[in-house]
Amino acid sequence: MPTVKQNNVLAKVILDAVFPPRCLSCNKFGAWVCGECWQKIELIKTPICYRCYRLSSEFKLCPSCHRQQALHRVIVCAHWQASLKKIVYGFKYRRARVVTNLLGGLLSAAIQSIPLAHNNVVVVSVPLHRYRYWQRGFNQAENLARVVAEQNHWPILTTLVRHKPTLPQFGLNKMTRKDNLADAFSLKPGSQALLAGKTVIIVDDIITTGVTLNECAKTLRQGGAKEVWGLVLARA
Ligand SMILES: [Zn+2]
Ligand SMILES: [Zn+2]
Repeated sequence: MPTVKQNNVLAKVILDAVFPPRCLSCNKFGAWVCGECWQKIELIKTPICYRCYRLSSEFKLCPSCHRQQALHRVIVCAHWQASLKKIVYGFKYRRARVVTNLLGGLLSAAIQSIPLAHNNVVVVSVPLHRYRYWQRGFNQAENLARVVAEQNHWPILTTLVRHKPTLPQFGLNKMTRKDNLADAFSLKPGSQALLAGKTVIIVDDIITTGVTLNECAKTLRQGGAKEVWGLVLARA
């Protein structure tokens, strides 16, 4: 009798033969992300304030940006160059586990470069509205957050909810983006006990203006979180 593991391996062999994986970036057969395209990803080595691009220690928001934001820092892993763009867009619509692990590993490595009190950390992801979740069948931010939480042995909380169906932020102007997301997020009952005194790491794939992450941060801090840090692959 083959074991479950052997069956899974067999299933993968058959699936790969029928739908051979192709690199999300260059379309070459063989893997969801080929070694060459992965090598092209340019990691950010010099930490900056995500809003104004001033140099900052450990990705903290600079004092003037911090006065206007609930976020304490946003850790941005890589530059938004062509191969990462294609991988992230492909990953949004295809649920390839390998890609989730690769991108999650990138996030994990970035957060590990920053010293923090590990016993006070919890991980959350930017939630989708339940209708959107139902439409898509998965939340890529949540899948990435799971990898980060697993690799660092941090608890993951599903305490943050998006109760207002919002338009995609992409293509909206700055004011409409704010209105679109105003009061879009809330916390499940009982969240205070889970958040009190914690550093919350909120994971998303990419950040644009930061309005979404900041709205999440506001809600989490109202719920008692000590600090809220964003962790994203890139700034688009
Ligand atoms: Zn490739
Ligand atoms: Zn700044």
